[in-house]
Amino acid sequence: MEYGYFTTSPLNSVRVNFGEYMSKMKARDDIHRINGIPDYAFPLDLKLREQLRKIPFFYTISKQIAVHAEARARQLETAQSVMASPTQFPDIFNMARDCAKRLGIGAPNVYITHDQAMNAYTYASDTVTPTIVVTSGIVERLTKGELKCVIGHECGHVHNEHIVYQSVCDVLANLLSGSNAIIQLLSKTNILLFYEWSRAAEVTSDRAGMICADNIQDAINVNKKLAYGSFLNQEDVEINIEEIRAQLNDLSTVASVATEILQTHPSGIRRILASDEFSRCDLLYKWRPDLKKPGMKLQSKEETDAAVSKYIAVLKEDRKEDNQ
Ligand SMILES: [Zn+2]
Repeated sequence: MEYGYFTTSPLNSVRVNFGEYMSKMKARDDIHRINGIPDYAFPLDLKLREQLRKIPFFYTISKQIAVHAEARARQLETAQSVMASPTQFPDIFNMARDCAKRLGIGAPNVYITHDQAMNAYTYASDTVTPTIVVTSGIVERLTKGELKCVIGHECGHVHNEHIVYQSVCDVLANLLSGSNAIIQLLSKTNILLFYEWSRAAEVTSDRAGMICADNIQDAINVNKKLAYGSFLNQEDVEINIEEIRAQLNDLSTVASVATEILQTHPSGIRRILASDEFSRCDLLYKWRPDLKKPGMKLQSKEETDAAVSKYIAVLKEDRKEDNQ
C-alpha cells in the first residue's frame, strides 16, 4: 500500500499498548506519591481534610454537590464562554495539556469567560475530565508564563482531589440561601475548620502551579499580582520580600483576624511568602531538575512546611505551634 511520502505506514512506529502506557504512567506517578498523596501537599491540608472527612455524611453529600456542580458548570460555560482548543486560544490549550501531563491527571477543558476580576476556578468530580475556567481579567493581566502557573494551580486542585470539598464553598459563602443538608452537618466550629482547610489547600495548589511553571519566578509573580491587582500596560511593580514579611508582622489586629478566618484563600502577602519558601524547597527540584540553577541554597520539605505553617496561620498563637 502507498503511504504518500512514506514507504511504510507511519502508524507502525506508534506504540498502541494501552497496558504498557498505563503501567509507565503509574510508575512515574508513584515516584511523587506518598501513601497515594502527592508528595508536595502541604501537611495542614491533609490533616484538616481528614478531620472534615470524619464529619458524618460530609464527604458523601459534598461529592454529590461536586458531581451536580460540574455537570451544570459545563453547560453554563459551553453556553457563555469560549473553550480553548488547538485553533481557539491554542496557547492556553497547550498550557493546560502541559500542566496535566506534568502532574499526571486528565487533560482539562479550559474555558475563557468574560469577567474583569482576576480569577480561575475548577469543576471536577474525578481526575480524568476536569473543567477549568479562567477569566478575561486574569488572561489580560498576566504574562503567558504566569497564566500557565494559574492553570497549573487549578490542575493541582484536581491532582489533590480538593474539588469535592471545595464544591461546598458556594454553599458556605451564602449560608442563608445554601443547602440545608450541608448547613445542618456543619457546626460553627466545623465551618471555621472548613475555611482553615481551604486556605491550606491553596498552599498545596500554589506548589502545583510552581511545579508546572516554565520559570519559578512566574509562580511567585502570580501571587504578587493577585495581591496588588496588576496594572494593565505597566511594567511589573518591584516587590521587596522583606517588606512583605514586615507587613505580615504588623498584621495583629482583631479585625484582620476576624476577617481572615472566614476566607477561603490565604491573604495575598501570606501566599507570596509561602510561594517564596517553596521556591527554595529541594522537593520542587526533584519534580523539576531542569529549573535548578547552580549554587542554589535549598531547604528540606520539612523546613519549608514549618516556615509556611507560620506564614499562613491566621491566629498568632498558631504561628508558634507545630502544625504538621
Ligand atoms: Zn485555588
